[in-house]
Amino acid sequence: MISRRSAIAGLGALGLSQLPVSAFAVAPGPFEVALSEAEWRARLSPARFDILREHATERAYTNEHMGERSPLLNESRDGTYTCAGCGNALYRSETKYDSRTGWPSFWEAIDGAVGTQDDTRLFFIRRTEVHCARCGGHLGHIFDDGPPPTGKRHCINGLAMEFEPD
Ligand SMILES: [Zn+2]
Repeated sequence: MISRRSAIAGLGALGLSQLPVSAFAVAPGPFEVALSEAEWRARLSPARFDILREHATERAYTNEHMGERSPLLNESRDGTYTCAGCGNALYRSETKYDSRTGWPSFWEAIDGAVGTQDDTRLFFIRRTEVHCARCGGHLGHIFDDGPPPTGKRHCINGLAMEFEPD
């Protein structure tokens, strides 16, 4: 059994002990939109910064985080869901559905709009993290319990997105 302490010691041997833990969760770059932490903080509200740049998750159903709320769970107009960090078009309304999980859910992203990686931050749970392909901003996770035709559920933080009606 490998203890957390020896795992950290192992990282130290590799010269990685100075990296903040969150560095292991950051999506691989480089990205077309690459800003410093200070620039992101200036551009985003505190709640959006926490979700997009620090991988936080808003509450289910109220879609509230740090005093901000997103109305996008109940958005039903035709239109495009865009990245709140960089404006990249992420999801179309035609692929949105009610997953009854309390977060805006889609069965497919717009072609090339998002990237994925294994999220191993929860030690014993393996999830697929999904992020904006243009700025690397964390959006949510993808699960395999979605509807046809893809069978995928893109479970997305409402505060990670904006909505532009057609
Ligand atoms: Zn983005």
